[in-house]
Amino acid sequence: MTDVAVVGAGLAGSLLACFLGRRGHEVTVYERRSDPRAGRAERGRSINLALSERGLDALRRVGLDGDVMAAALPMRGRMIHPIDGHLDFQPYSVDGRRAINSISRGALNNALLDAAAATPGVRLVFEHRLVGLDPLVFETPQGKVEAAADVVLGADGAGSAVRGQLLGYGMLDESLDFLDHGYKELTIPPLGNDFALDPGALHIWPRGTSMMIALPNPDRSFTCTLFWPNGGTASFASLSSPAAIERHFSVHYPDVLPLMPNLVDDYQHNPVGKLGTVRCGPWQVDGRLALIGDAAHAIVPFYGQGANCAFEDCVELDRCLAETGDEWADALPLFEARRRENVEAIAQMALANFVEMRDKVASPLFQLGKKVEHA
Ligand code: FAD
Repeated sequence: MTDVAVVGAGLAGSLLACFLGRRGHEVTVYERRSDPRAGRAERGRSINLALSERGLDALRRVGLDGDVMAAALPMRGRMIHPIDGHLDFQPYSVDGRRAINSISRGALNNALLDAAAATPGVRLVFEHRLVGLDPLVFETPQGKVEAAADVVLGADGAGSAVRGQLLGYGMLDESLDFLDHGYKELTIPPLGNDFALDPGALHIWPRGTSMMIALPNPDRSFTCTLFWPNGGTASFASLSSPAAIERHFSVHYPDVLPLMPNLVDDYQHNPVGKLGTVRCGPWQVDGRLALIGDAAHAIVPFYGQGANCAFEDCVELDRCLAETGDEWADALPLFEARRRENVEAIAQMALANFVEMRDKVASPLFQLGKKVEHA
């Protein structure tokens, strides 16, 4: 039994705690936010996620797939919305049966937190922001507190403080590649009591330098994500008045404008999020400290695989611990060796899929081939 500190109770941290608790370790999860199960979800990250088989496999292993899938909306293909012309549905599989699933990020995180809290040996501690690594120091509403652990696992997301600390100690190299594009979330509310668009598809408006997608939510709304350059004449900043916003949408997204009664308010008040790829190494130090999920390898969201990939990390670390008899000094290097190549592959595919989604899915040549890929 090892005393493990997991930093971050997001998707990776809370799932990881379930796996480690089941292996008999004493796990304390430190999260900077207050308990999200008690309040409103934090804005600024996507409201919903596409969960695919990779992520589902991990949830199945901790018995959570049933609960999560009960509220999921299967999307069996992508629906392309050209500026003029007809909608084009492109199924994800030849038989039209395979799907990726739209799920609420908040509900998924809450289900994972409930499962972690119910796992013997797991303790969740909120309002603890990691600010020091050696020793472990957390900022809390009551001031700074110190903690001790045999093993520290950084599951604290793309802007990881654990990674930042390792960088400060010169124990890690990193490269951060930000895209010129950012993203903003917009909403299509239910129309009457029903979905305003087909809820069985992931909707895409490919527009070359910009692109919008929409995923359905259980309350029959859709969350749209508009991807657009951060600066320049055609960018988020270029639409500075309500009239300019509506004019832009009437020209570039004419079919969806009548479905977005809150467009101007959403546009003016929702933040523009950054998108980028984090590469760093090593992911582990001396078998006592490791990064996992976005903290180790954040990717751009165009393949809908960041969370799925973080879940796969948890499965692989659990497997490495099982194979090494829970010898962390062997398990953590093995974990890194097995995951690194796969993660780099998905990072590159996610970047390539941006070009495909914003451009190629609308081209006649592409439609002849009818590729069957996710997102
Ligand atoms: P996070 O979910 O970011 O969790 C990190 C946790 O650490 C948070 O709870 C945070 O509060 C906490 N934390 C941070 N700093 C500290 C600190 N100093 N001390 C303590 N706690 C701390 N992935 C998919 O699989 N499918 C999708 O469809 C998809 N869509 C996306 C759309 C967008 C617009 C974006 C931006 C991402 C999308 N992703 C998607 C990627 C997915 O969101 C991430 O890969 C996933 O959230 C990574 O999980 P994580 O637990 O590693 O990090």
